Amino acid sequence: MTVFCTIVPPHVLDKLAQADDPALAGPARRTLQRDAYERTQRRLTTVIGAPTAAPLASAEPGKPHRTIHDAQHRTDLPGKKVRGEGDAPGKDATVNRAYAGLGATFELFLTAYARDSIDGNGLPLNATVHYDRDYNNAFWNGEQMVFGDGDGEIFLDFTIPIDVIGHELAHGVTQYTANLTYFGQPGALNESVSDVFGALIKQYTLGQTAAEADWLIGAGLLAPRVTGKALRSMKEPGTAYDDDVLGKDPQPATMDDYVRTGRDNGGVHINSGIPNHAFYLAATALGGHAWERAGQVWYDVLTGGELKQDALFTDFATLTVKAARARYGDGEELDAVSKAWEQVGVRTL
Ligand SMILES: [Zn+2]
Repeated sequence: MTVFCTIVPPHVLDKLAQADDPALAGPARRTLQRDAYERTQRRLTTVIGAPTAAPLASAEPGKPHRTIHDAQHRTDLPGKKVRGEGDAPGKDATVNRAYAGLGATFELFLTAYARDSIDGNGLPLNATVHYDRDYNNAFWNGEQMVFGDGDGEIFLDFTIPIDVIGHELAHGVTQYTANLTYFGQPGALNESVSDVFGALIKQYTLGQTAAEADWLIGAGLLAPRVTGKALRSMKEPGTAYDDDVLGKDPQPATMDDYVRTGRDNGGVHINSGIPNHAFYLAATALGGHAWERAGQVWYDVLTGGELKQDALFTDFATLTVKAARARYGDGEELDAVSKAWEQVGVRTL
């Protein structure tokens, strides 16, 4: 199953679409309509059998194969090719950021986990920028990345936060590995895995330790008028924004505040706060570079073959404990991972 994940979840745009100011509500409504259309397209092509991007015959293993397209504010995908692999940077900063973001994602997975692109087999990475007008979102449609420019009022250019690029591409990694069902707890795990690797890609790019990182998803994306710092916080779920137009960040940090809802595919972008916070706790307890030990444990679970598509939080947590023991023995890694889940109220078996 292909996940159609938009980085800005529908409940945020729903709230925005109700704003009194038409300059704020208009772009949100159009973005919701566009997302609904793309989601349907995805379902149709998935049913019919989408042609998956074939690795280039001449592809060199261990090297990215990036292509950036410009939709020129229309919605036809992929749009006009503006930068290929190895081409020098052009004048368009958005194109250059998308290219760099795909490269950083490729590099983390290759150097930290020996994974050759998101499918593990050199899959070419394609992205389209300048999608539509005032489009307040970015998404991975199962084949490529798509970025809007934002409306400039609430959201800025979606290529700005590198963790947003990493988040979307990580959905591709999940799609090719554990393929977690995009609903309820397995859906929240799917979202959380994308936040975890999105954050790790940012930290890797900046050379940050777990203590130095901001643990925010989408920092730099909100326009100055918005009261908030990002879309989500792994350090303090529920505190990323609190704005009169955007509403308040609804993420819980622990099982005590687990949200039961039918919206947002059963709260996939909401309850992901719980496993997100568990990762943050494990990574900061261990210290150093979070992609090395904590990230390795999460990656081992994602790719180890034991994680079921319909896994619940407790299943995932149990597998992280098992993976920590398998890779590092009875040491501080096992202790940090076990305690992290305990702190967020998820039982490990
Ligand atoms: Zn997502």
